[in-house]
Amino acid sequence: MEKNGLLANAQKQYEKALKYVKLSPDSKKVLSRPKELIEVSIPVRMDSGKLEVFTGYRVHYNDARGPTKGGIRYHPDVSLDEVEALSFWMTFKCAVVNIPFGGAKGGVIVDPKKLSAKELERLSRGYIDAIYGFIGPDIDIPAPDVYTNEMIMGWMADEYNKISRKLSPAVITGKPLNMGGSEGRGDATGKGAYYVIKEAAKVWKMSPSKTTVAVQGFGNAGYHIAKLLHDDGFRIVALSDSKGGIYSPDGFDPDSIMQAKLQKGTVDGVYCKGTVCDVIRHKKITNGELLELDVDILIPAALENQITEKNASNIKAKVIAEVANGPTSPEADEILEKKKVHIIPDILANAGGVTVSYFEWVQNKQGFYWEKEKVYERLQEIMVREFKNIYEIHLKEKVDLRTAAYILALKRIVAAIEAKGTEEYFRK
Ligand code: GLU
Repeated sequence: MEKNGLLANAQKQYEKALKYVKLSPDSKKVLSRPKELIEVSIPVRMDSGKLEVFTGYRVHYNDARGPTKGGIRYHPDVSLDEVEALSFWMTFKCAVVNIPFGGAKGGVIVDPKKLSAKELERLSRGYIDAIYGFIGPDIDIPAPDVYTNEMIMGWMADEYNKISRKLSPAVITGKPLNMGGSEGRGDATGKGAYYVIKEAAKVWKMSPSKTTVAVQGFGNAGYHIAKLLHDDGFRIVALSDSKGGIYSPDGFDPDSIMQAKLQKGTVDGVYCKGTVCDVIRHKKITNGELLELDVDILIPAALENQITEKNASNIKAKVIAEVANGPTSPEADEILEKKKVHIIPDILANAGGVTVSYFEWVQNKQGFYWEKEKVYERLQEIMVREFKNIYEIHLKEKVDLRTAAYILALKRIVAAIEAKGTEEYFRK
């Protein structure tokens, strides 16, 4: 474990919650490191005939509350430390929304935009071949994450089924609808964030028409949250993707930007290769500038460590809703707390994705599928309930919302770990 790495950062967040939760030394020990992890080499025959070997990981952080759950990320910057941190966050995220899962994460070091669709399929199947024994409907259930999507989940589920010679749709969530996917999974992360932001807006008395929003990241989560807020009357004044951003004080319609991207032919195969910079009249800004805009709500919806001690004091937003995992460093947290910026933490704000993944898993196991309205209704119920629980802890303990979320999750995780007995019990 790297001392100053992402996992160490993630653990600093939960350490702040420790003094509010009664937990045995056993629980602390168990939660200090991942339960198990695997590193694999994935040989892939490229279209050129050349063989490339990609490195992949899967980490099970903790399974006290149930089979582990978490996405698979394809990105050139994937590292074991990152996957460990993401699996740690998944453990707490599943507990925040009280679904019966532990936390896991997977990743492959690859720039998927450089692969053809055929190479991508071979890589995805190869990853499943490599980690086959490490996943399963009652062991660990992968899902999409950054730069993976439902088609990739479909290939992966298919590969798993081929190897096991039976159909187990519950092994992977975020699948295409026709392969056992769930209604409402595609925009679930955005929807979940939307329900939480709406609750927060009620508490902080922010009316949509008077609220400006900047969204960093135009992937699945970023696009959907921008669209949902826009449709509800919020003004989306800035958007960005990995190449840069656009700003317009009058606001954008995220759909027209997506349309423009599609029309320009910048969505190629399963990946969007375009950049939002190209499409409409606007002022071009960098990702760094977007974060420092004078807006009411800032939504980081891309990668980790975007708001750090370097830029935290320049943040002007009143509310930060973390749709990405780990966008704010612990040092930035301290600075933002002093500035009285409200942070709706990732382990709540982006938990809609895994919540609907849970619904998909339940539907797969039952062989009985729900209407989209039912999915949204149940998602909303969970997101609103847990926002209220966290808000109550925030008021009662006088802690920031992130610490409140960790307190809530930690209590649930610890209860599961300690249900098997603690040192105190066995000493008697
Ligand atoms: N990758 C998503 C996340 O970070 C979804 C995980 C899942 O559905 O299992 O929450």
